[in-house]
Amino acid sequence: MKVKEIKVSNYVTKSNLPGFDFVINPYVGCSHACKYCYASFMKKFSNHKENWGEFVDIKLTTKAIDIKKIEYKNIFMSSVTDCYNIKEKDYLITRNILEELKNSHCNLTISTKSSLILRDIDILKEFKNLRVCISINTIKERLNTLKTLHDNNIYTIAFVSPIFPYISEVSKIIEISKDYIDEYWFENLKLRGDYKKPILNYINYNYKDLYPKYLDIYFNNNMRYWKDLSLKIEDICNKYNLKYKIFWNNNNKEEKLILKQESFKLF
Ligand code: SF4
Repeated sequence: MKVKEIKVSNYVTKSNLPGFDFVINPYVGCSHACKYCYASFMKKFSNHKENWGEFVDIKLTTKAIDIKKIEYKNIFMSSVTDCYNIKEKDYLITRNILEELKNSHCNLTISTKSSLILRDIDILKEFKNLRVCISINTIKERLNTLKTLHDNNIYTIAFVSPIFPYISEVSKIIEISKDYIDEYWFENLKLRGDYKKPILNYINYNYKDLYPKYLDIYFNNNMRYWKDLSLKIEDICNKYNLKYKIFWNNNNKEEKLILKQESFKLF
C-alpha cells in the first residue's frame, strides 16, 4: 500500500450528489479495494500508477472547517473513498473532522463499510442530525456494526449495495436486520469500465450456471430481474412498514432509473 500525505485547502467541497450540499472525502483512494468500486475513476484524477486499492493519500489541512457555511446543510462523508479505511486507524483524519462538525447544525450522513466507525461512537452520539449508512451485500457482513450503532441511538441506514443478481440474499438481509435498521437503500450492481471484465470472469469461474444470466443483464440490458426484485422489496418493506429507497441503474444507457423512491427528505 502506497501512503502519501497531501496538503489540501479544505475538507469540504460542493456536492453534485442529489440531496447533498457538500461532500467530505478525507482521503484519496481506498484500502478496501472493492473490485466493483464505482470510485476507481479517481485514480485518473490523482495521477496514481498503482491499482485502485493500492494507494491512499492522506489529506492534511491547517484550515478549520467554516461552520457557518455548513449550518443546516446536508453533508455526505464519504463519496469517493471510505472515511474509515485502514489508514484512519493511524491518522484520525475522520475523527478530527467529526470533532469539528459535532457542534454545528449540519445534517451529516456518513457512509462506510468499516466497523472502525464504532471507535468514534462517543463523538457520533453528540451529533444532532446524523445518519450512518453502511453498505452490505451479503447477510454475513457488517450487520453487527449497524446493530451497535442503533443500540446507541444513532440513525442507521443499511445500504444494500451492490446487489449481485441471483447471489445477494436481499430478503434475508431485511428479515434478519429489520429490528435495528431505520432505513434501507437498495442499489444494483453496475458493470462498466475497467471492472466489467474481471467481475464477469469471476462469475463465470465461481457461478458458471449464472454466467448466461449475467450476460443477459449486462450485455442485453434486460431489466426484468431488477423489476421483479423491486416488487419483492416493496412487498417485504410494506409488510414490516420499513422506510426504503430503490436505486436501479440501467447498465448500458448510463442513466439512472429510480423505480421507487419515497419523498427524498433527508432529515
Ligand atoms: S469501500 Fe467504497 S470507496 Fe472503498 S473501494 Fe470499496 S466501494 Fe470503493
